[in-house]
Amino acid sequence: MDAYCFVAGTRESTTEVLEVHAPDDGRLVGVAGVPGPAQVERAVSAAAAAAGACADLPAHARAAALDHVSRRLAERAVEIAALISAENGKPVKWAAVEVNRAVSTFRWAAEEARRFGGEMQRLDTDPAAAGRAAIVRRFPRGPVLGIAPFNFPLNLVAHKVAPAIAVGAPIIVKPAPGTPLTALLLGELLAETELPAGAWSVLPVPNDRMAPLVADPRLPVVSFTGSGPVGWRIADAVPRKHVTLELGGNAAAVVCADWPDLEAAARRVALFGNYQAGQSCIAVQRVFVAASVYHTFGDHLVDAVAALDFDTEVGPVINDAAAERIESWIGSSGGRVLVGGGRDGRRVQPTVIVDADPKAEVNTEEIFGPVLVLSSFETVEEAFALVNDSQYGLQAGVFTRDLPTAFAAHRALAVGGVIIGDVPSFRADQMPYGGSKGSGVGREGVRSAMDDYTEQRVLVLNAF
Ligand code: NAD
Repeated sequence: MDAYCFVAGTRESTTEVLEVHAPDDGRLVGVAGVPGPAQVERAVSAAAAAAGACADLPAHARAAALDHVSRRLAERAVEIAALISAENGKPVKWAAVEVNRAVSTFRWAAEEARRFGGEMQRLDTDPAAAGRAAIVRRFPRGPVLGIAPFNFPLNLVAHKVAPAIAVGAPIIVKPAPGTPLTALLLGELLAETELPAGAWSVLPVPNDRMAPLVADPRLPVVSFTGSGPVGWRIADAVPRKHVTLELGGNAAAVVCADWPDLEAAARRVALFGNYQAGQSCIAVQRVFVAASVYHTFGDHLVDAVAALDFDTEVGPVINDAAAERIESWIGSSGGRVLVGGGRDGRRVQPTVIVDADPKAEVNTEEIFGPVLVLSSFETVEEAFALVNDSQYGLQAGVFTRDLPTAFAAHRALAVGGVIIGDVPSFRADQMPYGGSKGSGVGREGVRSAMDDYTEQRVLVLNAF
């Protein structure tokens, strides 16, 4: 197998090879090329050299490249979904959802590229600025280093690449070591576009060789998605860079007593706590249920979790270490396991725990596995306090049809997004997405990332 990466838009062979094995049975899925130091240097210097050309690309050219990638993703959807499923382990059904979403992400970015303009501001509201006006435009900060995790090998790369192309910023993508093949396949599609040389690279650099790349002053923006400890270390290492961190969470669903269909809510919670083995940053983890409906909801939840089809909905976790950690956290939860609790290798059974110790990891940390922790509350104020009693704050879901409760949730919950009438796991790429507290800084979503990759520059016009 040819081991390659993409250096400044060109496919290059490498001497060092990264083998990628399937999480479920360990078979060899493919190989990725690990770039040598000279290849990394060429990618970075080409990105710096291309910054002007990328920024000057007309909107129609940026949009055309993005539309092309969107179309090609759709054309090759079945093959790409199979690759995602093979290297990541997620059921192919979820991999197909991921590809569809990336098709939209690139198409949406093309539309945003066409819209991305600026604004004219009157300054003569202040007598001292009489006769002056300002044009405010956003210009790229410079080349972006995009670092992505394993759990959505395509979407989380797309969330960085598409906005960078849309604003005209070169980007170097660093995929996760377990799932680099999808990012390299995306590279094949990018190579079909007419973006300038240096506009993009895909470099599967090993983690222990990332420090110089992170620190390189020619890459002034670092867009990181991954775990908290790694993300905050990166932010601390480069305080002068523009760093965005999309980190983990222990997302909560609140089920209020007014919700009319507890069985349907339980099915949503069961699915989005366990789909792709709970390996989503906004998978449901903590479930707070109004005391008056707690037992009814709990019964429905156990039934819904037990009814999940393991192979088509859940799938294995990424590696042995993850499976062992999840098992040990279930064991030390101090609670009762209502369903699941065991594992067969990396196949962790979907699990529901009640009466867990509030200080146990299953409550306080990000489990990133198919585990739901159920508790009850008396008042919605208490429920909101329970949601906020977390080091994280990514998203929360509130099952209510009561408008004042919805507005109260929006005000009270210290998270990046509140989803009313559903689980916290909903995300659309048009909307700002990100977290507060330990869940990160900055927002993704195409338009928000475009803002992040650019900064405002004002042109003041005199004598108007
Ligand atoms: P991870 O932190 O282990 O790795 C993320 C990326 O960082 C990978 O590409 C990895 O190779 C790289 N990396 C690791 N050490 C590095 C270093 N020293 N310097 C530079 N890069 C380094 O995370 P993971 O296990 O791949 O992904 C799971 C985590 O990602 C979970 O915490 C999950 O919640 C989070 N996540 C967050 C979002 C979000 O949008 N908020 C989305 C998906 C996943």
